Amino acid sequence: MQNYNQLLLSNKAWAKEKVYDDPEFFSRLTNVQTPQFLWIGCSDSRVPANQITDTQPGEIFVHRNVANLVVNADVNLLAVLDYAVNHLKVKHIIVCGHYGCGGVKASMTQTDLSAMLNVWLRNIKDVYRMHRTELDGISDMDKRTDRLVELNVQEQVFNLAKTAIIQRAWKEREAPHLHGWVYGLKDGLINPVFEMPAGTRIDHIYEYDNL
Ligand SMILES: [Zn+2]
Repeated sequence: MQNYNQLLLSNKAWAKEKVYDDPEFFSRLTNVQTPQFLWIGCSDSRVPANQITDTQPGEIFVHRNVANLVVNADVNLLAVLDYAVNHLKVKHIIVCGHYGCGGVKASMTQTDLSAMLNVWLRNIKDVYRMHRTELDGISDMDKRTDRLVELNVQEQVFNLAKTAIIQRAWKEREAPHLHGWVYGLKDGLINPVFEMPAGTRIDHIYEYDNL
C-alpha cells in the first residue's frame, strides 16, 4: 500500500506522462465533459470503473457506494442521476456489482454491524427476501452470494426505472438504456447479467402517467 506522499508523486508523474503523450489532453477536458455513460458501482477499491473498462477521464460519469445500491431516498444518488440524465444526457446507465461483494455477504448474516450499515444493508436483505426461494435452494454459500450479487444488480436497475427522472427521459428521448453488470475479481471480466432498453414497461404501480 502506498502512503499519501507516494500518491502525490505518482500524480505528478502521471500528469507529465499524459502531456508527453498528448499535449492537448488536459486542455481538451478543462471546459467540457461529454460522457455517454453513468456508472453506479460498488465502493470496493478493487473495482475502479475507468481501469476495468480501459476508459479515459471524461468518458464515464461515476457514482459509487457500498454494494452499488439505487435507494429511493438517497439524495446523493438522485442528484447524480438527475445531472447525468438531464444535463449530460448520458445514453447508458450501468449498475455494476462484483462477485464476492463484502456488502452483499454482510447482508446475508444476522450480525448487528452498526446503525448506519444496518440501515444501508437492509436494502439488500429486501432483495434476498424477494428471491428467497431461489437463493435458499443454493447450498454453496459463495455461489449463493454471487447469485444475490446478480439479483441485487437487477433490482437496482429496476429501481432506476421506477424514478420519474428515467421515465421522463425515456418519454422525451428514448434513452438512457439501463444495464446490470457484474465484475469478476478473479478474472477481471464483466458479466452482463441484465438489460433494460429505454421504454421497457415495468409494474404499472411504478409508472407515472402525467410526465
Ligand atoms: Zn462490493
